[in-house]
Parts: sequence; C-alpha cells; structure tokens
Amino acid sequence: MNISKSVELFAEAQQVLPGGVDSPARAFRPVGGQPLFMDRGEGAYLVDEDGNRFVDYVLSFGPLVLGHAHPKVLADLAATAAKGTSFGAPSKLETQLGKLVMSFMPSIEMIRFVNSGTEATMSALRLARAYTGRNKIIKFKGNYHGHADMLLVQAGSAVASLGLPDSPGVPPAAVADTLVAQFNDLDGIAEMFAAFPDEIACVILEPVAGNMGVVPPNPGYLAGLKELCHKHGALLVFDEVMTGWRVHLGGAQTLYDIQPDITALGKVIGGGLPVGAYGGRKEIMQQVAPIGPMYQAGTLSGNPLAMQAGITTLTELQKPGLFDQMVETTTKIAEGVAEAAALAGVPITQNQVGTMFCSFFTNQPVTDWPSAANSDTDAFARFFMAMLENGVYMAPAQFEAGFVSAAHDSEAVDKTIAAARVAFKAV
Ligand SMILES: *Cc1c(COP(=O)(O)O)cnc(C)c1O
Repeated sequence: MNISKSVELFAEAQQVLPGGVDSPARAFRPVGGQPLFMDRGEGAYLVDEDGNRFVDYVLSFGPLVLGHAHPKVLADLAATAAKGTSFGAPSKLETQLGKLVMSFMPSIEMIRFVNSGTEATMSALRLARAYTGRNKIIKFKGNYHGHADMLLVQAGSAVASLGLPDSPGVPPAAVADTLVAQFNDLDGIAEMFAAFPDEIACVILEPVAGNMGVVPPNPGYLAGLKELCHKHGALLVFDEVMTGWRVHLGGAQTLYDIQPDITALGKVIGGGLPVGAYGGRKEIMQQVAPIGPMYQAGTLSGNPLAMQAGITTLTELQKPGLFDQMVETTTKIAEGVAEAAALAGVPITQNQVGTMFCSFFTNQPVTDWPSAANSDTDAFARFFMAMLENGVYMAPAQFEAGFVSAAHDSEAVDKTIAAARVAFKAV
C-alpha cells in the first residue's frame, strides 16, 4: 500500500500539532505505524490522500450512523448554513432536536445542548452535585467520559490504549472526590455507599462500556445500580454519548429498560458535527441556569449547523426497519470475523451490542477492565495492520469499539470478512 502522501503530511503535521493529531486516539500509537490522512468519506468508505479506499468501522469514533457524506445530511446542512452559522440567540432548531431526542429517550424531560461529550458529562456531574448537595462521584475502571479533570482516573479509550497513568496536570484535589469501581461488580458499589453515607452524589457509567472494547452489563446489573443509588439518595447518570442510537435507538436505557436520572449524550446526536447534551427529570434540570443556580453556558452551544445535522440524522433513523437492518449487518460482520478467526486458529472473544462490536484477542469472556486488559494487544496490532493492508479501517487500538452504519451494504460486509480471513492468518 502506498502511503507516501500521508507520510509527508504526518511529518509536516508533527511540526504543528503535538503528535501530529488533535486527539490521541487517532495517532496509531497502540498499533505502531503512522496515521493515514483522510481526503474524503463516501458512505461506508474512507479514502486517504494517497487514494487508498477502506471500509470504515471507525465512523469518526461513532457519530456517523448514516455513513459518510449522507446526501440528505449534506443538503440540509447547506440550506441551514446559507442562513448563517451561529446567532448567539435561540433558534427553533434547538427545540426541534430536543423534542426529537426526548421522543427516543422518555427519561429526558428537559435537555441542554453543549459542544462535546466531554462537556456533557462534566456538566451532568456538576448538576448531580448541585441537585444532591453532595461531592463524591463513583466512576468505573475502563469507562471513558471525556477529559474533564475529575473523570480522568483509570479511564478507557486512548488513556487505556496508550497505557497512560492518570494524567499529569490533574491536581489531586480535582479527583479527591472521585471513587473508582469495577464494572459489573455490584458489591464494590454497595461497599462505597456504606463507606461514604450521604456523601455520594451519583454513579456515572457507560451502561454498555464502549471505551475498553465493547462490554455489556451483566443481567440485572443496571437495575441493581439504580436501586443502590436511590436507596442512598444518589443519582444514576448514564453516559450514553456512545451508546445513544447505537445499542438501540433509545440507547441502553431503552434496551435494558432502566431509566437513569440524568443522561449525557453526544456523537450520533450531532450527525458528525460537534455536539453534546445532558438531560433528565424536569425537577433536576430546573437546577440549570437561567432557571436554576447551577451555571453552565456555551458560546456555540445549540449551534444551528450541529442541530440540523442531528435533526436530519435522527429523523432518517426513524425510517422503519433501518436500525434493525444495521444491527443485522453488525451481526453478520461479527459472526464472519469470528469465523475467520476460528479458521485461522486465533482465539478471540467477540462482543456485540446493537451496532457496536469488538474482537478481543483473548479466549476468556470479557466483562470488565481486567478481563479486557488480558487481551493480546500485539496480536491485535498485527491484525489491525493486515486489515488495513486489505482495505478495512478499524479503530487503531484493541480497546475501542467498531461501529457499523446504514451505508454498510453486503459488498462492504463481504470485503470485510474476506479481509479478516487473510488478516487472522497474519496474526
Ligand atoms: C466519546 C465519549 C465521550 C467524550 O466525547 P467527546 O465529544 O470526545 O468529548 C464521553 N463519553 C463517552 C462514553 C464517549 O464515548
């Protein structure tokens, strides 16, 4: 594969941007080699600057649920952009997207739009603390909630993939009230509530973990968490930045029928533009300024272009049968990849929930961070490189989810499985 233009562009970018990237998850560090510079996206495909074409399972790390450059999204964006890109005043698009989100997730009675998932979780925690008058929060090992100080403890995604310790620059005081629990372990949470009665504001989690690979909750786990939270006067916060419109159109809260008190959103609701949001029960959301005392603001929050991309994306997703078809496609890919691994004699554990999947290079079930971390990341790196050589672009780290879009047709699936049959032999 010729990547000479990417090599040139990467050398230049490294003079300007730390590591040549604006987000570490893109940097290919966990797999070796260097990132490819992309020229364009076309449906299920990415095309790099050298003209190499790949079936894409990164989809901008989740948001592009309709695929790249969806014609309706582009047309609606162009029409909205023609009217101006930002007003610093309300537009009807914010209410429209808010209502649309609520129609998928009834636990959200009021919503506030922000600009990223990081802002969404950060604000959701401020809200939980404001509402309960408590300071401590519980998060889970291997869950990633963006890069706010208080959440950058034993986090997933690139923090885990790069083997980084908790980040320098985060003052100890910022994480002094952050308790870290093991995903899928209820007893650990019960012990924390017992150790800190009346001090814990909330438990925040990815209800299906997607930043340590894909790890579903054990049966009854989410219900158990909710019960413990409410017994101790704490709130349950679902970070559905990734899982929203991914594991189910109504998120993990609909898939497992557990209504959280507060939900953080991002990724898909922006249809590929920068958006986040947090929402929940009305009495909780009424804490937020200007109707309540909890301050949170944003110059570009509710940006009309981002709102429009979200509206068009969520509206398209309402087409009958579309989401089920995407899940079916994901299952075909997951099964095809697992079969290719078996044929090559490579032990993997394939996890899938909805349109998210992950092939862990381990023969053990993966249910939490220690079992995920057991994976053979060197074998993954060899698999990743071989897939790339064979025209398939996966996330460049073992501990990331793969995503499928509505644009992934049988041709894309066949290409992927054929590539996997070759790639596992190279492992
Ligand atoms: C991506 C992600 C975030 C952070 O969102 P950004 O838009 O990258 O700030 C937060 N939580 C989860 C679960 C995510 O997957």
